[in-house]
Amino acid sequence: MSGGTAALIVAAGRGTRAGGPVPKQYVPIAGRSILDRTVSLFLAHPRIDRVLVVIAPGDEATYAKAIGSHAKLMPPVVGGATRQASVLQGLLALVEAAPDAVLVHDAVRPFLPSTLIDGCLKALETAPAAIAALPMADTVKVADAEGRVAETLDRSRLWRAQTPQAFRFAPLLDAHTAAATAGKTDLTDDAAVAEWAGLGVALVPGSEANRKITIAEDLVMAEEALGGGRATPDIRVGQGYDIHRLVPGDHVWLCGVQISHTSTLDGHSDADVGLHALTDALLGTIADGDIGEHFRNTDPRWRGARSQLFLEDAARRVRERGGRILNVDVTLLAEAPKISAHRTAMRTAIAGVLALDPGRVSVKATTNETLGSIGRREGIAALATATVIFG
Ligand code: MG
Repeated sequence: MSGGTAALIVAAGRGTRAGGPVPKQYVPIAGRSILDRTVSLFLAHPRIDRVLVVIAPGDEATYAKAIGSHAKLMPPVVGGATRQASVLQGLLALVEAAPDAVLVHDAVRPFLPSTLIDGCLKALETAPAAIAALPMADTVKVADAEGRVAETLDRSRLWRAQTPQAFRFAPLLDAHTAAATAGKTDLTDDAAVAEWAGLGVALVPGSEANRKITIAEDLVMAEEALGGGRATPDIRVGQGYDIHRLVPGDHVWLCGVQISHTSTLDGHSDADVGLHALTDALLGTIADGDIGEHFRNTDPRWRGARSQLFLEDAARRVRERGGRILNVDVTLLAEAPKISAHRTAMRTAIAGVLALDPGRVSVKATTNETLGSIGRREGIAALATATVIFG
C-alpha cells in the first residue's frame, strides 16, 4: 500500500546525559521506556498509517526488547553519524512505501499531545512543511567571545522548534538527498533541511507538555508527571481524640495555655486534652501506638506533668522516622471557657513545641450546644489531625 502518512521516530542518539549507560530513549519512566511511550502515541493515531524507528548501530537487541510488534510498525532502520544522516536513512527506508506525507519526531519527546499531530497534518494541506514550535518567552542575548552581551534579539520573531515536523514526503527526501550530496551536514532539524532547499515551512503552535527529555532532572519530572513510583510523595495524616472530666478547681490547661476557670480538668498529668489529642495524631502518622502506651497514667514520673513533654516526644518519634510535619489542626469541644481570647497563645505554644510556622498550626473551638456530657459541662474533649511528609 502506498500513500498515506508515515511517522519517522529518530532514536539514534547515543545521549546518556540523563545518567547511566543506557541511551535515554530506552530509559523507563514509570515502568515503560521513553521510546515505547513515544512510538505508541503514533501507532494509536488514526491518521498515521506506518511508523518507522531509526536506531543507533548496536541498539538492535535493546530496541527489540523495548518495543513490541504492531501491524503499523516497520522493522527499525540503523541511522548514521548525525541526526541529519539518520533521518536520511529513515526516508530511504520509506521509499518503497511511498507515503504522501511524513512526520519526523524525536524519540525523547514522549508527552506529545495527539492534537499536535493533527495540527501539523492540517497545516501540511497548504504548505510543503509544517513544524510544531513555541514562541520564545525569554529574552535572547547574543554573546561575544568574552561572554558579554553583544546583542539582544527581537523576541517577537523567535520561535523554539519542536517536533513533530511534517513534510510532503518526496520534497523532503529530495532536500535531504541534495544536502547530503552537497556535503551540507550540520543541519540540526528537518525544517532546516527544508529551508536550505527553499521549501516554505509553516509554524504550528506547539505545546509546553511536548518537552524533550535531555537530562536526569527531566527524567525525574517525567516520572512525576506520570505519577510513577519513586517520585510519589509519602504524605500521611494522623488523627487523635481525647476527653477529660471537669472537677472542682480554678484553672484548665488547653493547648499548652493555662486559663483561669471555675473548674479544672482531672487527669494524671496536666490533663491538656488539646495536646493529648494532637500527640495521638502525630503518633498516628507513624503508627506508633498512642499516648497512653508511651506515658502510662500509673507512672509517677508523669504525675502533674506538662503535656508539652508528650507532644515533644511524639514530634521526636516522627522526626526519627524521617517525617516533617506539614500542618496540625486541633478542635476543642467545650461549653466554657471561651477559647477565642486564647487562640493565638495556643497556636504560638504548639508552634513552639513543634518548631512550626504558626501558619501551619490551627486551633478551633466549638461548644456542644449544651448537648450530652460536654454540653452539661462534665468534661472537655478535643480532636486533632496532623499531616506529615516522609522522605
Ligand atoms: Mg488525655
